[in-house]
Amino acid sequence: MAKKYIDKNWKKELTDEEYQILRKKGTELAFTGKHLNNKKDGTYVCAGCGNPLFSSETKFDSGSGWPSFWDVISKGKIDINSDYNLGMKRIEVVCSKCGGHLGHVFDDGPNPTGKRFCINSLSLGFKEKSS
Ligand code: FE
Repeated sequence: MAKKYIDKNWKKELTDEEYQILRKKGTELAFTGKHLNNKKDGTYVCAGCGNPLFSSETKFDSGSGWPSFWDVISKGKIDINSDYNLGMKRIEVVCSKCGGHLGHVFDDGPNPTGKRFCINSLSLGFKEKSS
């Protein structure tokens, strides 16, 4: 049975740019995203539905031009799909709550997981940790 994601009028809810990424599986240009160089402590959430996705504690500079994380904030926050769009197999990462496209996950990340979640800034909101 297909998974039921929350549905909204995404065209209205999102900016045009966010819509292209989250709902049309686009990719923002490398080195353009607002979260790429964010070094603050906090939580990255889905820009579509607010689902907490990644902690700043697992963010690292991959050199790819997209915000990169070596783990998800907790189990069940993302779903993965096979993606053959570029003529090669990649693993797509989507929000488990709204199905919004986030990016891809690769096996060339750092320890301890060896994973690199390569995520569009436009798919993410950021909640800075209050001290
Ligand atoms: Fe979401």
